[in-house]
Amino acid sequence: MLNKILKFLKSLIASEKFYVSNIKKSEKTGMLVVQDLNVHYGAIHAIKGVSFEVQQGEIITLIGSNGAGKSTILKTISNVLRKSGGDVFFLEKNLETTEPHKVVEMGISHVPEGRRVFPQLTVYENLQMGAYIRNDKSEIEKDLIIVYKRFPRLKERENQSAGTLSGGEQQMLAMGRALMSRPKILILDEPSMGLAPLLVDEIFNIITDINKAGTTILLVEQNANRALHVSHRGYVLETGKIIASGKSSDLLNDEKVKEAYLSA
Ligand code: ATP
Repeated sequence: MLNKILKFLKSLIASEKFYVSNIKKSEKTGMLVVQDLNVHYGAIHAIKGVSFEVQQGEIITLIGSNGAGKSTILKTISNVLRKSGGDVFFLEKNLETTEPHKVVEMGISHVPEGRRVFPQLTVYENLQMGAYIRNDKSEIEKDLIIVYKRFPRLKERENQSAGTLSGGEQQMLAMGRALMSRPKILILDEPSMGLAPLLVDEIFNIITDINKAGTTILLVEQNANRALHVSHRGYVLETGKIIASGKSSDLLNDEKVKEAYLSA
């Protein structure tokens, strides 16, 4: 009997069908899976067949120089920008027809480049806006306390209009607001851009803390050195294509990556 079962299993493994279905399944096991993504801006082919995945609990970084296509990929994941080809899966659901606000409801929160806080609203009101998809009032209050604990400066400036905050404070507010939707994955586009070195340290420490508290993170950075130091794995993007990927510790030691992105 045992022999028969073993023979059956061997024949199953040997069959191409078994392998093909297994490969397809494993391609979609990540929390976020991007497959063969293509994006055009008119005649410009900005993203050329990009594939990558983010597993639950990871910090993944996309690095690349100006114009490589990093922000474009993030906008396509959030569905604020239409792709011309490929698929994006979140928790195995294809986001093809998902409206941007539904993407947030599913657990994807995107902090865009340049922060984009509501300048006329106070810090408190901005944070409340982050929870607009929720109606669990007491849980929202609890999350507000957690955000204020993580960003004490926001608590101090609770009633200040967001437009009058410094660049670093606005970055903190944008991240705090994104956390108020209780995301499963937080997508951060250039969080360290334009910040003084001490604040950059603070932001990267906070990113690590948020991840340790259970939120998966997709981080886009031009500051490749810092991003690779806080992330588990990374993908290197050059003119719309992924040219290298691997464990962040390996990328930090890769000669080509060092020369192109870590020499400054
Ligand atoms: P940066 O680090 O400078 O923000 P990036 O890697 O995020 O760059 P993207 O902003 O995604 O790059 O841009 C990728 C390419 O697409 C660039 O060549 C850019 O000029 C082009 N692009 C971006 N937005 C548009 C747009 N709205 N219309 C036309 N082309 C665009």
